Amino acid sequence: MEKVVIIGTGCAGLTAAIYAARSNLSPLVLTGTMPGGLLTTTSIVENYPGFPDGIDGYELMVRMQQQAEKFGARIKILQAVESVDFSKQPFSLVIDGEKVEAQTVIIATGAGHRHLGLPSEHILEKKGVTYCATCDGAWPMFRNQPLVVVGGGDSACEEATYLTRFASEVYLVHRRDSLRASKIMAERTLANPKIKPIWDTAVTEIFDPAQDKVTGVGLKNLKTGEEKVLPCAGVFIAIGHVPNTQLFQGILDMDENGYVIPKRGTETSVPGVFVAGDCSDHVYRQAITAAGLGCAAAIDAERYLAALNQ
Ligand code: NAP
Repeated sequence: MEKVVIIGTGCAGLTAAIYAARSNLSPLVLTGTMPGGLLTTTSIVENYPGFPDGIDGYELMVRMQQQAEKFGARIKILQAVESVDFSKQPFSLVIDGEKVEAQTVIIATGAGHRHLGLPSEHILEKKGVTYCATCDGAWPMFRNQPLVVVGGGDSACEEATYLTRFASEVYLVHRRDSLRASKIMAERTLANPKIKPIWDTAVTEIFDPAQDKVTGVGLKNLKTGEEKVLPCAGVFIAIGHVPNTQLFQGILDMDENGYVIPKRGTETSVPGVFVAGDCSDHVYRQAITAAGLGCAAAIDAERYLAALNQ
């Protein structure tokens, strides 16, 4: 039987793994389909304390994994949980077809990219529509072409800035007339001569599924109602995230957007099941806050185990 199973290996999961491993709990850690979490798709992380010159997101996650493994965390790459039964102790989880029992579970499943919800968006995904500039921006089909980034937050600004390396110009399409991004990021983005903001505008269509590639976007000005088509070779969607908590629907208390609601500290509505990071935090959503919550979850799990095994 496992003492601690940690689901997810973003900043929250891996920090929980470091702490649980250092407490001799030998945690079983499941990466799911995205080892390292969303930070592995970021280019440079400039606000993680201890790295005054910034650090590559992928490298930061590799280092966290090494640190967890050094202390005895057992990290299972690409293993995912199929179902859970939290109705009694020990909990049971089905992991890639195999039943595993656990006394505590730390959920650190993070969040995935939000979609616009257009049928053409899905048809053209990976054919010019993407959710990650650092993963896909260097594709030959985007070189010296006009590109569109959708969104007004830090991600959209970061993606737009990154894409100026390849694109002839980058159109930043945002539904309001001011950016949500942090001041420094917004100023840097708007000062970039290759980035052209298009305010108060929604993307209503992505062309052209019939050609199996992106040739442009349909835009609608939300104040004037004016519609037009903007030719482009790629659409990068950066409109926020949705928590990866579908597995726990009906089992744990969640808000209307699917964020797990912690009851006390990191404890969920089921004693012995803890939560950390972007799957429960829609307020701060930073690498460092996720890491902090991962630490707290491991400490909470350790205290729960001490009481359980008294
Ligand atoms: P975000 O801050 O939630 O911003 C999402 C943006 O998408 C907002 O501008 C929002 O518009 C827009 N949006 C949402 N739904 C939309 C829809 N259906 N259609 C069109 N537009 C839509 O998300 P994020 O930029 O991914 O950032 C998430 C968190 O990570 C934030 O806390 C951010 O600070 C952090 N982050 C930090 C860094 C960094 O520091 N290096 C980099 C990336 C992200 P409204 O503004 O109108 O709501």
